[in-house]
Amino acid sequence: DSFDSMELRSDLLRGIYAYGFEKPSAIQQRGIIPFCKGLDVIQQAQSGTGKTATFCSGVLQQLDYTFVQCQALLLAPTRELAQQIEKVMRALGDYLGVKVHACVGGTSVRDDQRILQSGVHNMAVVVGTPGRVFDMLRRQYLRADAIKMFVLDEADEMLSRGFKDQIYDIFQLLPSKVQVGVFSATMPPEALEITRKFMSKPVRILV
Ligand code: AMP
Repeated sequence: DSFDSMELRSDLLRGIYAYGFEKPSAIQQRGIIPFCKGLDVIQQAQSGTGKTATFCSGVLQQLDYTFVQCQALLLAPTRELAQQIEKVMRALGDYLGVKVHACVGGTSVRDDQRILQSGVHNMAVVVGTPGRVFDMLRRQYLRADAIKMFVLDEADEMLSRGFKDQIYDIFQLLPSKVQVGVFSATMPPEALEITRKFMSKPVRILV
């Protein structure tokens, strides 16, 4: 199996190879294609297995690059992880010209507001921690109406850090037809509850 056989956009393939990946990892082999088809996907895998590139590729494949409004929202439990995802998204999407913004706590709310609201820099992808992202949505600095992909990375970790209510609040603000990807090393009952409540016929991938 190869990245070439996944029918990805050629500029996404270029980004993947330029980043130094030659062959997809096991989780990428099984996860990228269903995500690219717009299906809800649950991937249970340890970190270090290549899940970041799985959902980044799925998001980058499906963005409409002619349209500048947030289309993908990704949540992570920590600022560092959100910024790491931002970096991978930018690198893999380099040849696609993707616009990515990280919305994390500990930075200036006014900067987030300015970046999210300025037409020129309008972000197709927003990666953030639940608190700041909810704040941006609630204040309508971040518009939710064009969001069509929603990814929870390290869902178990987010839940154990007490982000359950904020994740639920964010779900309520998203379009009802949003594609949902849940990535988690473990599936505690609260994570299963999210998959039951907010996903439709998810594809489950266990690596
Ligand atoms: P992740 O599980 O997404 O945190 O990825 C773990 C590490 O594996 C990161 O350093 C990635 O850059 C690397 N990695 C992910 N996918 C591949 C791949 N297909 N080929 C080589 N390295 C990869």
